Amino acid sequence: MTKTLAEIAQILNNSNNIYILTHRSPDGDTLGSGYGLCLALQKMHKNAKVLNSDNISKNFLFMKEYVIEQEFEPELIVSVDLADTILLGEKLSVYKDKIDICIDHHKSRYEFAPINYIEPDSAATTEIIYLLLTEMHIEITRDIANCLYTGLATDTGCFKYNNTTVRSFLIASSLMNLGAECSKINRIMFDTKSRERLELEKTVLQNIKFYYNNKVAVVYYTKNMVEEIGATDDDTAGIASIPNQIEGVLVGVTMKEDKERSGYKISLRSSGSVDVSKICETFGGGGHKNASGAFIGKPLEEARETIIAEIGKQLELY
Ligand code: 5GP
Repeated sequence: MTKTLAEIAQILNNSNNIYILTHRSPDGDTLGSGYGLCLALQKMHKNAKVLNSDNISKNFLFMKEYVIEQEFEPELIVSVDLADTILLGEKLSVYKDKIDICIDHHKSRYEFAPINYIEPDSAATTEIIYLLLTEMHIEITRDIANCLYTGLATDTGCFKYNNTTVRSFLIASSLMNLGAECSKINRIMFDTKSRERLELEKTVLQNIKFYYNNKVAVVYYTKNMVEEIGATDDDTAGIASIPNQIEGVLVGVTMKEDKERSGYKISLRSSGSVDVSKICETFGGGGHKNASGAFIGKPLEEARETIIAEIGKQLELY
């Protein structure tokens, strides 16, 4: 059932023990939404806790440090930026049938909670959390503003992607006004790279392949490559934007060998009118029009052929 933000605000106002679930391989938006909401609820003297399936990248750890760790049993479970319960990851999969409220901005998604607030036109889930906190008349402190700004900046590629709207800029300016440390966050998120990250970029660029008259570019990296370089999850984040940066490319594909399952995690990126979520849906994945993901349980060559064929078919590139 879809509820209004005012109704969701009321449910949160009436609950005292709240768990907030993020998606696996947590990014800036799911963490910014989770910790921003958690901080606000704690400020209202409620018990609130963010649960993550995987470790948090070091760039995002500052948000975890804002909240107080509390132990309690939940009476309400909220998911943020979660398009499908499969994306809860192994550790949080026990909650897959227990989510009460889902707050999300994914266009392509699967409905799993009894109460939903979904805004596919929202550039980031933190935009929705900002509106929710405003609806709840909660004072947005500098720390909350930092969390919400991080989600907004990372999901818009620092306001470069075409999901960025007038509202995104208005919310960002309001967050800056509330004390968000925008330039510091932007520098950490977008203008700083480790040596390992640079090595990984070099490796990935060496194996780039082009298809369909250079309209599709594909890169990959394996577990071995990552190990040899000594790269961590922090270093791999955002690699998927590389093939789509090349002039003339309509779809950029990044294939990452999965750590646990045998096969490849596929990340598709596009710009403009090409909707890559439809391509990912054919493999049981999804996401946004210009940024989507899926898993293909095949070895490298086969997985690459499979995704290339599907892109060719859907975009009629033959
Ligand atoms: P990424 O390629 O960075 O992993 O994901 C891009 C977008 O697609 C994110 O918004 C992410 O939540 C979504 N996404 C990635 N993998 C899946 C998947 O397997 N299923 C669904 N529904 N969405 C996914």
